[in-house]
Amino acid sequence: MKIVDNYFGCNIFSKHEMEKYLPHSVYKTMVKVMEDGDELPSDIADVVANAMKDWAMDKGATHYTHWFQPMTGITAEKHDAFINPSGPDTVISDFRGKELIKGEPDASSFPSGGLRATFEARGYTAWDPTSYAFVKDRTLYIPTLFCSYDGSALDKKTPLLRSIDALNASAVRLLHLMGYDTKKITVTVGPEQEYFLIDEKMYKQRLDLIVTGRTLFGDSPVKGQELDDHYFGNIDERVKAYMEEVDEELWKLGVFAKTEHKEVAPCQFELAPVFTSVNIANDQNQLTMEVLQRCASHHGLVCLLHEKPFEGINGSGKHDNWSISTDDGENLLEPGDSPQDNIRFLTILAAIIKGVDEYQDLLRLSVASAGNDHRLGADEAPPAIISIYLGEELTSILQAISEEREYVDHSDRRLELGVSALPQIARDSTDRNRTSPFAFTGNKFEFRMLGSNLNISCPNTILNTIVAEELDQFASELECYPKEMVNEALIGIIKRTLKEHNRIIFSGNGYSEEWKEEAKRRGLLDLKTSADALVHYTDPKNLALFSKHNVYQPHELHARENILLKTYYQVIVIEAKTMIYMLQKEILPAVFAYEAKLAQIIQTKKSSGIVAPMEEKILKQINSPLEIVSQHVEKLEELLEHNPADDKTAARYAADELLPLMNAIRALTDTIESKVSKSEWPLPDYNDILFKSF
Ligand code: ADP
Ligand code: MG
Repeated sequence: MKIVDNYFGCNIFSKHEMEKYLPHSVYKTMVKVMEDGDELPSDIADVVANAMKDWAMDKGATHYTHWFQPMTGITAEKHDAFINPSGPDTVISDFRGKELIKGEPDASSFPSGGLRATFEARGYTAWDPTSYAFVKDRTLYIPTLFCSYDGSALDKKTPLLRSIDALNASAVRLLHLMGYDTKKITVTVGPEQEYFLIDEKMYKQRLDLIVTGRTLFGDSPVKGQELDDHYFGNIDERVKAYMEEVDEELWKLGVFAKTEHKEVAPCQFELAPVFTSVNIANDQNQLTMEVLQRCASHHGLVCLLHEKPFEGINGSGKHDNWSISTDDGENLLEPGDSPQDNIRFLTILAAIIKGVDEYQDLLRLSVASAGNDHRLGADEAPPAIISIYLGEELTSILQAISEEREYVDHSDRRLELGVSALPQIARDSTDRNRTSPFAFTGNKFEFRMLGSNLNISCPNTILNTIVAEELDQFASELECYPKEMVNEALIGIIKRTLKEHNRIIFSGNGYSEEWKEEAKRRGLLDLKTSADALVHYTDPKNLALFSKHNVYQPHELHARENILLKTYYQVIVIEAKTMIYMLQKEILPAVFAYEAKLAQIIQTKKSSGIVAPMEEKILKQINSPLEIVSQHVEKLEELLEHNPADDKTAARYAADELLPLMNAIRALTDTIESKVSKSEWPLPDYNDILFKSF
């Protein structure tokens, strides 16, 4: 058995490794670059590059790559060898500062949403020294940002880093006004990752899983998750071996994979890491998804990261646990021990409440995708309506504050609204409400709407920016008061905010129909599909927000909106085509064959003077839906011939025309499946996949 301490983080160019490979003064400078965001002095780039190369070659690396996260959401890389020719037949290994700092991948095929004219198709990658370089598959991976020639962000990471700066500036400004000498804040994130594991042989027999990541057909299995017997159950040997390999790979890459357990649905699992700073958490989550998928194939398994691989069975999400901490390690979402710290806590909380209420549209669209639409609001994941859950105690405290009345807690302590008398607020993390999309869990918020597949940078960029905006507004108000009135002013701000934004707080059952009604009464948004949500990217208030905080310029937002709308449409078109292919090539021929068999039996029986009522009944039960399926398929083919004029129209077309027809086709086909003989059905069915995978 290997001892984890001996290899944890061995494949990252960590501070520990930097200290070994860099001259001391350069090491010190690098730490300042990483921790304080200082610029990298140009004269040390060559030294760092050389040390990084030596370290990577000692780990067996022969190549390096700038690793980036284009707007497709997945990671991209292009490998170059370290060696350069040094004479006609000789080479030397070489890696210069300029190669470390900047790259020019021939990346003209990545979506840019019009940010790059075709004549300037080149994109540039720029080293992000705040995330760790690492070695994987004999290659040195250098985390980079991906921009166009004029600096527009072509990736998901650049806006995230900009949003961290924005939140840092606003938070530090406000904290200074409150009398704290905080120099810097860090956004911390721990993304819990859900996934399905299924047998590779069955996977390979289903084109829908291979091409679209989800099953487009499939009658319900005999058993779903109703007994809850999979949740936290014993882990199967094959899966255990897989998880051990995943852990080892992740630990080598410095990812603190910590908790692994079975989730509610059959074949579903979760991996939770220990939280870290958001940009590292983002890179590590991308690596985690990659490792989960790669290791599966070593065990004859496939890891499905689609948000809804199986209809009628829970989909997979990713809980984004988010908080802010100060440079001396204090968590700003931790209720404090002193009244003063509690005012700080309540102020940050008020800012979050206001931000979530004012920018519900942005939070919703930050998780929008064709796949995730199947989850949200499907009685398993949070609804598409944004609300905040605060737990019983905190809700009562806030209510008392906003109604200007006394709060008496369980231990009979009174909360007077005088400044010095705010009570200790107990951590209330036992109080859980799984149906809430945005829940306070004691010392952090848990944003639960993310799909399992999502790159976490977008939701975190949005969270950081909206909180930055609200803290900034509070700070501007506070500046008008003399120092001795700051606390009083803050209490006023907290009270007013709670009164004005109380509608976003909801503790009840988010799955219920009553909540949908209630939310409508409260005027909360219910953006059901991505086509409804994504168009809000470029609402004037949102353009203004992101410009003000230098997170996205308007043209960058227009580009994102276009790319995401187009992707949504394309995903649905691909699903529709896959559906038609599977029906015409696999399912319909099998059903015809089975019908022919039935007809044959009926005829044989009849010619011998025997009635065949059962066979006739089944034949009818298959044939009636079959006729409608064939009409629908014809209609779907027709619909696919239409070319919508622009990305917005295309997304609407997919949501309003294609999807409803596809859903109808699926429902009918699933009924047919329930009547056709197992030996005749051409695909592994839900019972096979979910109960015979291992
Ligand atoms: P649950 O499944 O009940 O939500 P887990 O323990 O599986 O709880 O996950 C909690 C996640 O929250 C972990 O990834 C953990 O690292 C993360 N977390 C804990 N504290 C913080 C914090 N201050 N900031 C961000 N994430 C945090
Ligand atoms: Mg959770």
